Amino acid sequence: MKVNNAEIVISAVKPEQYPDSSLPEFALAGRSNVGKSSFINKMLNRKALARISSKPGKTQTLNFYIIEDSLYFVDVPGYGYAKVSKTERAAWGKMIETYITTRKQLKAVILIVDLRHPPSADDRMMYDFLKHYQIPCIVIATKADKIPKGKWQKHLKITKETLEFDPHDDIIIFSSETGEGKDAAWQAISRKM
Ligand code: GDP
Repeated sequence: MKVNNAEIVISAVKPEQYPDSSLPEFALAGRSNVGKSSFINKMLNRKALARISSKPGKTQTLNFYIIEDSLYFVDVPGYGYAKVSKTERAAWGKMIETYITTRKQLKAVILIVDLRHPPSADDRMMYDFLKHYQIPCIVIATKADKIPKGKWQKHLKITKETLEFDPHDDIIIFSSETGEGKDAAWQAISRKM
């Protein structure tokens, strides 16, 4: 998809605030600092659309971006950030669970992981949770530019094994630096719309 128009519609914390729309939605999840904002910006051809509100310590909201009037990206606050209180973490969990388990328009979760390292315990927990609720996933293994191309397949294999990856899902090697995987990611999204 060639994106010319993307804008934030609402930052929601509860279902009454979700957009009143039947367009397909794709939620984006990943641990803090994994490269989720960079992924969103790369996919939407923007420099800083998804930057400010997703940083640790900022209000924990679901940020709905409408794209070309045909789908939504729903940016979920990053997980695994150490300095978050127990209360905040519980509120985060509840907000995500409510959205993921009730939102009919949700077509898939785009889970961002770092290709360089095996997925973390939090990554595995998130993937298990999504599989438990039978949510289709598109796993994006990002920061590929940071390792030599000759090692990509080896790292991809470790990523899949660590996640106990479901072969019905998509997994895509990505780089927000080079744009590697961008077309494949849009294709995976289009197939699930
Ligand atoms: P977020 O917290 O998950 O939204 O992470 P950001 O998108 O803010 O990225 C965290 C850091 O990783 C920033 O310094 C980015 O410039 C860097 N980064 C993100 N994606 C890539 C990538 O694909 N390649 C490289 N080399 N750096 C990246």
